[in-house]
Amino acid sequence: MRQLFVAGNWKMHGDKASIKTLVTGLNAQADSVGNVSVAVCPPAVYLDYTKNCLVASNIAVGGQNIAEEPVSGAFTGETSAAMLKDLDCEYVILGHSERRAIYGETDAEIARKVKTALGMGLTPILCVGETLEERESGQLETVISTQLNAVIDEVGIAAFANVVIAYEPVWAIGTGKTASSGQAQEVHAFIRGQLAAKDSAVAEKVIIQYGGSVKPGNAAELFSQPDIDGGLIGGASLNADDFIAICRAA
Ligand code: PGA
Repeated sequence: MRQLFVAGNWKMHGDKASIKTLVTGLNAQADSVGNVSVAVCPPAVYLDYTKNCLVASNIAVGGQNIAEEPVSGAFTGETSAAMLKDLDCEYVILGHSERRAIYGETDAEIARKVKTALGMGLTPILCVGETLEERESGQLETVISTQLNAVIDEVGIAAFANVVIAYEPVWAIGTGKTASSGQAQEVHAFIRGQLAAKDSAVAEKVIIQYGGSVKPGNAAELFSQPDIDGGLIGGASLNADDFIAICRAA
């Protein structure tokens, strides 16, 4: 059985006061989540502050992006994988659709970042997903397999033993429109099938999260699908009660 994993993507939200409130709420309820892995991914400038506020030992911390360059260098404005490691981060979200769409990150660039993260001992949460236009024009499978294959080509299939995948249909992110559990399961099974064609043992082990308007009210149904192994939570991860409720649904 795969370990269920729920991660909160705080995006560019929060300040010290609101993070204190949020983390205090998480600390108070962390014991109730049961046997699910949990992580929160704050903005880079608040990683250390978040880590310091966290008392709950079962909540890990991750970043939302890294530079391709692993260690240090003349890359103004960037954050390295080594810096995340230095702050005891375990995870890093890579290839989020906002990074792809707003900052123009390409499949190749994302693949190199996955390699950098793995090389530094961080677990990448690799996001893949299609836009509504791509889905409606029948390109869903091509888009997902292109995004996946770019990374497989860069790091090799065996490395996916240490990669978490998040399937996030772009049309469901922050829109309140969730993929139905059936729609999500279908894509998750497709992703696992793509990996299985290259290495079935690795495919069985890979955690595939669903992301896109997951809420306390729809989490249990989504997470009960055979190939959905938890979630990557945006908006609802900014409220401790909602986020813990989603973790408990896993
Ligand atoms: P959402 O975001 O839960 O607010 O839809 C998910 C994500 O972008 O990771």
